[in-house]
Amino acid sequence: MNARPYASADRIALCRECDWVMRVPPRAEGESAHCPRCHHHVAAPAQRDMQRPLAWALSTLIMLGLVFAFDFLSFSTQGIGHTMSFVDAAGALAGYAYPSLATLLLLTTVGLPGAYLLALVYLCAVAARGEGGHRLVIQLARRLKPLEPWMMSDVFIVGVLVSLIKIVTLADVHIGLSFVAFCVYALLLLRTLTLVDWSSLWDRLAPVPAAAPAIQTGRTGASQQLVVCRGCDTPFRANRRHHCPRCGRRHAHYGVDRLQLTWALLVTATILYIPANLYPIMSTTSLGSTEPQTIIGGVLHLVHTGSWPIALVIFVASVVVPISKIVALGWLCLAARHGWHDDSQAQMRLYRVTEKLGRWSMIDVFVVAVLAALVQAGALMAIEPGPAALAFAAVVVVTMVAALTFDTRRLWGDTFNADSA
Ligand SMILES: [Zn+2]
Ligand SMILES: [Zn+2]
Repeated sequence: MNARPYASADRIALCRECDWVMRVPPRAEGESAHCPRCHHHVAAPAQRDMQRPLAWALSTLIMLGLVFAFDFLSFSTQGIGHTMSFVDAAGALAGYAYPSLATLLLLTTVGLPGAYLLALVYLCAVAARGEGGHRLVIQLARRLKPLEPWMMSDVFIVGVLVSLIKIVTLADVHIGLSFVAFCVYALLLLRTLTLVDWSSLWDRLAPVPAAAPAIQTGRTGASQQLVVCRGCDTPFRANRRHHCPRCGRRHAHYGVDRLQLTWALLVTATILYIPANLYPIMSTTSLGSTEPQTIIGGVLHLVHTGSWPIALVIFVASVVVPISKIVALGWLCLAARHGWHDDSQAQMRLYRVTEKLGRWSMIDVFVVAVLAALVQAGALMAIEPGPAALAFAAVVVVTMVAALTFDTRRLWGDTFNADSA
């Protein structure tokens, strides 16, 4: 199975983002492939040695285990101290009746990355032994890639740093070994993600089906009834039941115009952004008096206390990014609907920036979680999450889903049936 000629012949690829059909020649080690039309990465840098991502994924998992073995942060003010573990950040949210936020925090920082890494270790081990092909392996492989945008351990680190700067003038804060382990884990995770070459991995796991006859490169897939599998990136002729011949994944058939779906999600996010700003995102109790704080109130407070850089980080993450994301996606929906295709390249760039930046809005939610878990000194000083944290987290999640549902192929002025997305 190792001898499968995956690297020896040209391959037909279909760009997910602009629907262009192209021929991809065999890649040398470390060589990636781009779409000539929209510059989307149709293949990551070639990584044929499966032992490498396997070793990195294992190291990342070990570091993830160490995150739970020590204290995360400790805090003390006027003789009253409190130490938190990593799990306490989620525990504090659950304790204040926000179990959905606690679940979101655990999933995005450790749950999904942990599951992803375990599955990746298994897949790489199977691929390295040349034992691909059985059903469980294929089902697992096609579910992993969609998890990648939802892994936010790097965003959580920035959230912790912002929290520390916010309270360092009010109390003594010490960094625990668990936080150090978390930072190393997040870095290793980023490195592991760059080492996964899904194209080579799939070649080891499932045979490439014979290309449909008479496929023409340099044209759109839609003009030839071709679709691309979202699980394994294999182009195939849209058949009546729309199942990928390589991995068996059912091709997403939305049954509604996807632009309408994106619009609906953008409207939802806009509505949710109102309570996210009207209600307090957290309440600070200091010497018996409680002071609620909204997102903008928090930013202004930081400005008054002279913490300009942190005020700027929170303002950009909580106000600039979500609003510009909603406006940008709304504009792209209009461009797609009305056929404004003067500069499709620029529209694509705007979409990609929007999609990449969206997850960083989660910083403020993580700040609230860390502060609520850490600052626990009774009536002397305590921080409690507010209802806006829930609404704001929903804004971030809904705008991320809106970006993922947006059909970028509609930016290119090709004629095709939008329903067959
Ligand atoms: Zn493309
Ligand atoms: Zn497939």
